[in-house]
Amino acid sequence: MLKNKIIKLLVGTNNKGKLREIKDLLPKNLEIYSPQDFKIKSPPENGKTFKENSLIKAKFFSKKSKMTCLSDDSGLEIDALNGDPGIYSARWGGKNSNFDLAIKKVFKKLDKKISNWKKKKINAKFTCALTIYWPGKKAVTKIGTIKGRISNIKIGKRGFGYDSIFIPQGSKKTFAQMLSKKKYKMDHRYKAFQKIKKFL
Ligand code: IMP
Repeated sequence: MLKNKIIKLLVGTNNKGKLREIKDLLPKNLEIYSPQDFKIKSPPENGKTFKENSLIKAKFFSKKSKMTCLSDDSGLEIDALNGDPGIYSARWGGKNSNFDLAIKKVFKKLDKKISNWKKKKINAKFTCALTIYWPGKKAVTKIGTIKGRISNIKIGKRGFGYDSIFIPQGSKKTFAQMLSKKKYKMDHRYKAFQKIKKFL
């Protein structure tokens, strides 16, 4: 059985938005660290799936820090763009993680592919793979998803990444218009976390 009493945990991400959200989900009795505390840069993400990439990160950060690590790989998949940006979600923001740029790219691709897309329902989903990697070389990964659609305008000031263009199913607001408390309790990361939390 993999269950361990984890007291110190490295949250393997250099993305501040994700770190904030994952910290909010974690039990308060854990001592939480991030790669920035040890000046560890992120590894190249050369996996083909969210699962592979989350394992690459968890293993890399765990080996560098010698700590148990919880890593996430996540992204937005748009049906009409054959699942893009998908595992390339972060990379569409360029070197400086510029998500205005990434969102412009989404809109441009939709303009090219679908006439009048702003009047249509553009289905999309967020996926999150969470992996815990123990220094003893054991790992567990769980996946969470949330379905929704792409907003025809960028709207809302909260959150990060593609939050300002994603409207989850059953809502009229984008993630960026919601209070973070509400978003954190329904999204892909939360759903993956519900499945993996028993290992913490
Ligand atoms: P990675 O997992 O570090 O490769 O980055 C995933 C990218 O997907 C992030 O940089 C965001 O752009 C996007 N993403 C993942 N989760 C969310 C979310 O909850 N809201 C908005 N964007 C997200």
